[in-house]
This record gives sequence, C-alpha cells and structure tokens, in this order.
Amino acid sequence: MKSIKSVCSACQECCKQYNITLLPEEAKKIEKKLNLIEKEFIEKYCDLSIQFFPSFNSKNPFVLHYLKLPKKFREKLKEKTNLKYFFVLPNLALKKTKKCVFLEKGLCTIHEVKPEQCKLFPFISLKKETSFWKKYPFCNLLKQGFKPEKNFMEKSEKHYEKIKEYFEKVKENGFKSEWKNLPEKGNAFYKDEKIIQMTKNEFSKLTETFK
Ligand code: SF4
Ligand code: SF4
Repeated sequence: MKSIKSVCSACQECCKQYNITLLPEEAKKIEKKLNLIEKEFIEKYCDLSIQFFPSFNSKNPFVLHYLKLPKKFREKLKEKTNLKYFFVLPNLALKKTKKCVFLEKGLCTIHEVKPEQCKLFPFISLKKETSFWKKYPFCNLLKQGFKPEKNFMEKSEKHYEKIKEYFEKVKENGFKSEWKNLPEKGNAFYKDEKIIQMTKNEFSKLTETFK
C-alpha cells in the first residue's frame, strides 16, 4: 500500500481550509520552538474557536439545548439546521485568514512541532468507516481514492482520546484551567463550516453556560 507522503500532492488546501484546534501540550511545543511565552503566542497566533456538532444524546455533558445558547449563536445555527441539541466544543485554534498563520511560501514554518490534526489530516475520525471525501472534497488524496492504513486510524483514535481528556478537564475545571490567556476574538463553526465571528466576551458567556 502506498504511504500518505507518496500520494499527498502537498497542495496545502488543508492549511487553507481546515480549522486547526490545539491541545495545551501542542501549544507548549510551538511556544518553545518560537521562544515565546504563552501570552505572546496566543495573542499573535491563536483565535478562539467554538465547534458545534449535532447531537442526539442530550445527556452528554458537552451537549446543550439550543435555547441555552446566547441569541447570536442560536440564530446562526437555526439558519443551518432545526436540530435541538448540539455538542459545544470550546477551544483555541491557529489563526487563519486565507491560510494558516504558519504557512509561508508553500511551507509549514513549524513543521517539526505542528499539531497532531495537521499530521493526521484528512483521516481524522472516531468512526471506523467515514466518507472522508464528503467532508473534505478539496483534498487530492481523497480524490484519488486513498484509504488510511490501520495504524493511521489507530493514531486518530489515540488523538481523540487525548481530546476527550482535554474536554473533560475543561468541563470539570473550566476553560481557564487549561488556557490562562485568551485571544480577543475568534470564530464559531457548525460541523467544519465557519458560521460567525465572536468576541472574547461572547465566547466566555457561552462557555459559562456549561456550569
Ligand atoms: S489537502 Fe490533502 S492532498 Fe492537499 S496537502 Fe492536504 S492532505 Fe495533502
Ligand atoms: S501548522 Fe503547518 S501543517 Fe498545520 S495548518 Fe498550519 S501550515 Fe499547515
């Protein structure tokens, strides 16, 4: 079977189109490489990120009824779906305008310490069988019908375990327990689509609704 490296066209569409969220340990590695303290790194390179995903299980601690969401988010979600329950996942993401803040002249400037999501893309899923091409139609790997090897999916599952632990800590101890500093603004997403911009205040109000 061909390896991902030999088939990936390095088109960098993932660095332009995909929202890369961070775990605190990944942020620390990048800070170290750039010789920055957390506050500087977050101000310069990070945005706030809220990801909404549909949920059919209202008992999950990260699931909220849409009536509990601030009006701005409620109205935007209503344009997308009539669902009542959503996973609400707060995080920090790498800044992105038309491309990731670390993509320069077609190269990743933090290649050695890039986040796991960058390494795993496009095969990021908890499910064994996923129509990746439906999620990421821009990816040439998927257009060529490339399928992930077993160990690649195992890596994806391990990464999800870490993400799960991270969200459990956020739920238990609050967002500030994981991130001492916050960017001034960011974006909310429904599935992987950006739906609205938000300020630090709006982000904080939304994350308070978990308590
Ligand atoms: S979008 Fe797909 S083909 Fe393009 S660089 Fe990313 S993984 Fe490779
Ligand atoms: S960190 Fe590097 S690999 Fe990841 S999206 Fe940014 S430029 Fe691409």
